[in-house]
Amino acid sequence: MSAAEAHAARLKVQMIFQDPYASLNPRLRVDEIVGEAARIHGLVGNGDFDDYVSTQLERAGLDPALRQRYPHQFSGGQRQRIGIARALAVQPSMLVCDEAVAALDVSIQAQILNLFMDLREELNLTYLFISHDLGVVEHLSDRVVIMYLGRVVETATVEEVFQRPNHPYTQALLAEIPTLKSRHKTFTAIKGEIPSPLNPPSGCHFHPRCPHAMPRCKTEVPTLKGIAINHLSACHLNDMA
Ligand code: SF4
Repeated sequence: MSAAEAHAARLKVQMIFQDPYASLNPRLRVDEIVGEAARIHGLVGNGDFDDYVSTQLERAGLDPALRQRYPHQFSGGQRQRIGIARALAVQPSMLVCDEAVAALDVSIQAQILNLFMDLREELNLTYLFISHDLGVVEHLSDRVVIMYLGRVVETATVEEVFQRPNHPYTQALLAEIPTLKSRHKTFTAIKGEIPSPLNPPSGCHFHPRCPHAMPRCKTEVPTLKGIAINHLSACHLNDMA
């Protein structure tokens, strides 16, 4: 791949950050924040700059008339929309969204999630959506990868993960989601503290907290194995099935 091709490929993947307050330069006006990268990369000329920025702002649900304002003049939800407009301005095909709604009020979260889904349809985007909120994951995802202390423990389609979770960690996560069906259910948190990622437990990282832990779990790292079509899980219990 040539340097120019590598450069173009990098533009195709853009990032939406968790903190809409820290991720915007407070000294730049909105039009500079949104349009600067597109201008630098030659996607828009000076003559078309205003129209180009207006299109990005409208796509993200913001009034283009606000383009001369600074980030501190916006709410958290509006700032996240500015971040989305900035990412879209370089015409990406993929957005990496790192806890992109976690810092927002719940009512605003729903608006931004709807915006993400509308933009996916409109622009044919792919998302890598990183989230601790399983409700958000179920709502937005096609395929889910569950990680524990830096290791992938399970991956499958969203339907498979939510209907037939295999790994004990995934099962414990899903058991913690409140549902209307189980109004009187007692909340049961996963037992134990999360170990330090700098000094993770031996064998299966989850063994100190796993209700099914066996002696081999302390010494042997479980590998990801297929347990159904397009469904992988890393748990020694699957060797006994
Ligand atoms: S490998 Fe052992 S400790 Fe790890 S999740 Fe499976 S049963 Fe639990």
